[in-house]
Amino acid sequence: MKTIGYAAQSTTTPLAPWAFDRRELRGNDVQMQIQYCGVCHSDLHQARNDWGWSSYPVVPGHEIVGVVTAVGPDVKKFKEGDRVAVGCMVDSCQHCDQCDKGEEQLCRHGNTQTYNGKDRITGEPTYGGYSRDLVVREEFVLRMPDGLDMAKAAPLLCAGITTWSPLKTWGVKEGSRVGVIGLGGLGHMAVKLAVGLGAHVVVLSRTADKEADAKELGAHELLVSSDKAAMKAAANSLDLIIDTVPVKHDLNPYMTLLDIDGTLVIVGQLGPMEEMSTLPLLMARRRVSGSPIGGIRETQEMLDFCAEKNILPDVEMIRMDEINHAFDRMEKSDVRYRFVIDMATLEAPAA
Ligand SMILES: [Zn+2]
Ligand SMILES: [Zn+2]
Repeated sequence: MKTIGYAAQSTTTPLAPWAFDRRELRGNDVQMQIQYCGVCHSDLHQARNDWGWSSYPVVPGHEIVGVVTAVGPDVKKFKEGDRVAVGCMVDSCQHCDQCDKGEEQLCRHGNTQTYNGKDRITGEPTYGGYSRDLVVREEFVLRMPDGLDMAKAAPLLCAGITTWSPLKTWGVKEGSRVGVIGLGGLGHMAVKLAVGLGAHVVVLSRTADKEADAKELGAHELLVSSDKAAMKAAANSLDLIIDTVPVKHDLNPYMTLLDIDGTLVIVGQLGPMEEMSTLPLLMARRRVSGSPIGGIRETQEMLDFCAEKNILPDVEMIRMDEINHAFDRMEKSDVRYRFVIDMATLEAPAA
């Protein structure tokens, strides 16, 4: 089927309108019309090939919400008109131990990325949510709960699940003590979700100027990481730290904030890290870990939780043709806290 979207045709060209084909429906496929798509940092990085694995054209977008427009004959869970969502992956092997556990993001054979990936059957490139229509096998389609605002919910599909998964993996609950480093797209969701789970939430920031923002998001405290006395006083005060800062930085100052058996989880792709001292790890059995998105079951659980608790990202709505400007602003962290594209503004390329 013919569709339209926005694509980067090379590392140096800005995103521009592009007409392309989606596959015809397979038996277990769901076809949706996209209403909104969130703008993630990885969209920018892959459009510009910052990670070295982009294959062009790249149609970014993996925070996708919309409405079902058609289903294949074997689809059981969805019908035309259903409100649905798709996140960072659209397929996996479906039979390894990780897929069996519902951790498709850790599939032994690799999951299929929503864009800049390869279809498992035909090997064709996958194209993401900066487009009008999407075709995805039903196992990777999420149900949008009633009452969840479609216009604001899109960033839950990457920023939301990426911070929800470590909160659940490390058992955050009422009374847990959670630190969040960085107040961007991911960080602001980490705060809202941890608060929703009943945790005491501390935002860690180099300066005090984000205190009002942190509190507005529901955080209980802001700890200034450049304030040595305050950092010392906060030693052993956290069970989990979620580190969302997407550039190389020194983890050492944060480690002693963790209590015994506490964990610092990195959710951004930083590349090589600064040297780390083993002493804080040894002295209190502290850990450093990483965490990618989350599984499909976990993503549905997160969407249902957000509907129940009325948790939504703070978004700035843009038109499709504002995307290149939005990328520039995102690079300067000039967004509160996530851009979302209104896909009704997508126009076909000039003939
Ligand atoms: Zn993302
Ligand atoms: Zn698998």
